[in-house]
Amino acid sequence: MKKRIYYWVHEEYRDKPIIAKVILETKVLINILVAKMKPQESFLILELSGSEEQIEKALNMLKKYGEYEDIPKTIEKNKERCIDCGACIVHCPVNAISREEDFTIVFNEKECIGCKNCVKICPLKAIEVCEI
Ligand code: SF4
Ligand code: SF4
Repeated sequence: MKKRIYYWVHEEYRDKPIIAKVILETKVLINILVAKMKPQESFLILELSGSEEQIEKALNMLKKYGEYEDIPKTIEKNKERCIDCGACIVHCPVNAISREEDFTIVFNEKECIGCKNCVKICPLKAIEVCEI
């Protein structure tokens, strides 16, 4: 299974190899999808892959060094509002937005990590990220 989370590392552990430690001890694969390290905005978006048991173990370890939150990932495009301008495509960090052959914009819910970049950038407020 796969699980995507926001992760905030406690300040005292920010220079420690937490992710590597979790990978080594739990054998969960961890993909760092986004890493923001500015003083005013510091968090990671992680994708964990492994068995349910492994992922639970990894989350318990991560909790020792920081805080995490599940990522909601149901994207809804308001078809009435969207004009298929494509402005949202380049702001998606995981390429979950693409253009069909007929030039309409489509969202791939499986890839979406719920970061809301597209929501903020859309000039017509045509996108919503819903809680699961
Ligand atoms: S930015 Fe908004 S209007 Fe433009 S394609 Fe994306 S969802 Fe549609
Ligand atoms: S919320 Fe939007 S920008 Fe973020 S991953 Fe999902 S589709 Fe991409």
